[in-house]
This record gives sequence, C-alpha cells and structure tokens, in this order.
Amino acid sequence: MSTPSEQDVAACIGKVQSTQPTLGALKILAIIKEDHPDWALSEKRFKKILSAQSSERTTLVARTGIDPSIDVASIAPKVEVKLFGKGKGKGLVARTKILKGEVLWQEEPWIATADQQLDAPLANKAMCTTCLTLFLEPSPPLSKPCPSCDSAHFCNRLCLGRAKEAAAHHDLLCPGANPSCWPLLKYIRDNGARHLAAVARIIALWRGAKASGDVKEATRIEKRVWTGMARINQLDKEKERREWSMVAETRLAELHHTHQLLLQALHPSSPDARFQKLIRKTTISEAEVDRWFSFDSYLELLGLAGINQESSGGLYALHAHLNHSCEPNLQVRNLPKTFKAPSPDQLPCDLPPPNPAGVRGTNRLTILARRDIEAGEELCIPYVNFSLPRAERRQDLREAYGFWCQCPKCVREDV
Ligand SMILES: [Zn+2]
Ligand SMILES: [Zn+2]
Ligand SMILES: [Zn+2]
Repeated sequence: MSTPSEQDVAACIGKVQSTQPTLGALKILAIIKEDHPDWALSEKRFKKILSAQSSERTTLVARTGIDPSIDVASIAPKVEVKLFGKGKGKGLVARTKILKGEVLWQEEPWIATADQQLDAPLANKAMCTTCLTLFLEPSPPLSKPCPSCDSAHFCNRLCLGRAKEAAAHHDLLCPGANPSCWPLLKYIRDNGARHLAAVARIIALWRGAKASGDVKEATRIEKRVWTGMARINQLDKEKERREWSMVAETRLAELHHTHQLLLQALHPSSPDARFQKLIRKTTISEAEVDRWFSFDSYLELLGLAGINQESSGGLYALHAHLNHSCEPNLQVRNLPKTFKAPSPDQLPCDLPPPNPAGVRGTNRLTILARRDIEAGEELCIPYVNFSLPRAERRQDLREAYGFWCQCPKCVREDV
C-alpha cells in the first residue's frame, strides 16, 4: 500500500467527474479505489480533498456591483440590498418580518424579450410586443401597430410608447426603420436566441439614448450594465459544459457569426443611410465603440443576459439582485393583469394558484413570499429546478450560472 499525494487524488477526482459529473462522493471513492487498489486512502482524507476541490470550483464567480439607479426603498420597502463580500457578491435581505403570500414587489422589465414559444402569437399580432398580453381577438380595436414595420403590435398607445423604453421594439431593431437588423432578427427568431436578443436590445437602448442626447439615460444604462449587474464571460462559462471539448469549434464559429450580425445591425460605422439617420449621425468615442462592440464585450454581455434573464423573458433591475437557493423563500410569478395583491389583513395566505389555461401572465414580475420570512433573512429564488437531486442541481447551476451551490440544502445533503 502507498499513500497517494493530494494532487494524485485530486487528479483522479477530476478525471471521474469529467465523465460522470453527477456521482456522489462515495461512488467516486469506490471508482478511485478500484483503479488504484494499492492506495491507502481513508474516506476522511478523500472527502477533505474532494471538498477542497469543490470550494476551488467556486472561483468562477460573476463580477457584480451596486446599481445606484434603483430606488429599492420605494419599489420594495421591506427589502434591502446587502453586499455579502468575497465569493458571493450582492443579494437582498428582509428588513422586517414578511408573511406567507405577501407581495414583496412588482416589477416591469427594463429590457423586455420574449420566449421562442411566443413567436407565433407575436407574428400573428395576437399579443402585445411590449407587455406580452395575449389579445382576446387579433388586432383589437384600440391596439396600435408599429408605424414603421409589420412585425410589432401593441395593446394601446401606452404600450407603444413603452416599447422604446424597455427596448421591446426599439427603432434601431425595427426591421422597417433599420433594415440592416433583419438578418439579426431572423437569426434570433430561427434559433430562439433569447440571450442574443437581450444583448441587441441593451445595446439599442444605450445607443438610442446616446443618439437622442439623453446623457442621463445613457449613463444609467452604462452603469447598470458594466458595474451594477452580475456578469460573467460567456466563453468562461461555456467551458464548464461537460461536452465543451466536442462543441468548442462550432460554438466559437457561431459566436463570431452572431457577433457579426449584431455589428451589421448596430455598429456605429454602419454604412446604411437609414441607420445613420436613426442615430442622427451622432458619433461615439473609440472607448465606447470598444466597450459595447468588441467581441470580448459581446461575450460579457451574453454572459450577463444568460445569468440575469428571467425564464419568461426580460431583464429586471431589482429581481436580478436575488441569489439562488435550492430551498427558496420567494416565488416569482408572471400573473395575469387582473391579479390583486392580498391586503395586510388577508395575510398570511396561500400563493396564487397557477394561471388558468388560456390566460397568460404579462411580463410584469410579482415577487411573493413562499413562507413567513424573518427580518434579516436573505431572500432567495430558485435558478434551476430545485426538486432535482443535488448533483444535478449543482451541475446545472455550474453550467448556466458559473457557481457551485453551497446553499443550506446542498450542504445538509452532503454525503
Ligand atoms: Zn417596427
Ligand atoms: Zn401591452
Ligand atoms: Zn443548493
């Protein structure tokens, strides 16, 4: 018998996990012992090395900061932002006791995007492009079409006006107003590329603000994107995928291709006269061109969309502050327009039932307490299906969000 070095054991763990990432600790140990029958390796020492390796895996943490433009006190009076420090970043905690069924806040997207499954109703003008409300009949009487193209339809003037605000249908991404964006829009639609859609809309929103001379708005978006929101380089994240080595070449080509489509649609030096008219021939600095249009920035923005985009579509300023837990105390819902928050005397109460068949919630988010929450408790939502076994949850979180879950449930379930 010989005592293996820590490095040898770690290398074996890495090898086993690279082919079977969801195996539990004891199964990994069994495989290693089978491969190295001469090793004297106690279960205790093995687990120590394994856990050191798992905590090493937490180094791929998204960069994050504080978004000064969100007025948390007025949006969600019972909630405050907290910086947890190294490795964890920011999160939200309860300021006072919150009761089950209570609505903590409601929030409209600052960037609205739609899921691929909504392409059909959107194309058929059966749904509002801004708030994603399903019309009871196609093109209802008060509804408004986009004045420049045939691909967007809105509940009313209000939603038409808001389209530009949340970039749900920005001029720079309207195929009528800016025909150069057509290949990008087609790619997004054909591939259900929702993260790419979010990136395009973020850039369009910022570029639009610059073009209209709205310095305050341009700065707000700039700060939110580059210092406020959690961000991770898309390539760093994708390298975590089990099958990365097999797909790397194709995926890189795809990323370069979509970056080109984005440049064709929105690049400041686009030769398209209609695009130049939309940006009022305004120019941006070289540093800004680099910050918003380089390939590296594209990877950062895609990563930002990937970790912040809500499952029903869209980016939400305050919601993006919520951390993950496999036993969440909050529920995030897209409820129908008719939903009314319970009044204080109705609390605590059950959560609203699932939306009835045929009734679609809007893209306004409602954040509810899943149970009673004490003051000071961190507020958490599930980023992945939390009924999956721990190994699968952790792997899903690692691949999609770049972190290794150490929530109380994951720690408790430690073998
Ligand atoms: Zn349009
Ligand atoms: Zn609407
Ligand atoms: Zn967990």
